[in-house]
Amino acid sequence: MPYLIFLAIFLLASITTSSGQVCSAVNSNFPNGARVSNVGMVKFFIDPTSPPDIPFYIRKRIFTKAFNEWERVTCINFAITSVKSRADIVLQFSPVAGNNRVATATAPPTQVTLTFDSGEIWSETPTQNSLDLESVALHLIGHAIGLRHRGNNNPKNQETIMNKRLVDRFGATVDEGIKKTSLKDRDIILAVAKYGGPC
Ligand SMILES: [Zn+2]
Repeated sequence: MPYLIFLAIFLLASITTSSGQVCSAVNSNFPNGARVSNVGMVKFFIDPTSPPDIPFYIRKRIFTKAFNEWERVTCINFAITSVKSRADIVLQFSPVAGNNRVATATAPPTQVTLTFDSGEIWSETPTQNSLDLESVALHLIGHAIGLRHRGNNNPKNQETIMNKRLVDRFGATVDEGIKKTSLKDRDIILAVAKYGGPC
């Protein structure tokens, strides 16, 4: 009997830890008209204080790759700034409430805040239990330019970057994948409709 109880607890823990990680932003906060205004030079600011396990220069490299992916397909130009008050987009690490919810975002045109859950282990090259920072940054930047979530009503939306299901922790056995760092056609269509592109 103790064995069965142990097995039940183990299985329950497995189910809990193997669920995909999701974004807690909600579509109602992203009206159709939500867009950044200074398309020629959208400035982003990286919180320099955390997380301590990823040096600032590596965070900058990871985030820049994610911004470049959106820049590649649209007429938006992004540039880093060291002055928070002048930024259109602020990237920070802070607690995000909710089970399996690991990121959230506010909407433009006012200064956007992109939040990565400080309770997670973030990585450039995920290892056991860590999450891929670039993949989630790519999703959140989509919100920063005003994009909503792609719903699950169409199966083709499930693999998009703008689906609210993000990535799995390394070592998980479910199906989101460990890394999602390339925009899909259905993501690009949303951005090009707002901003045109590529330029
Ligand atoms: Zn989201």
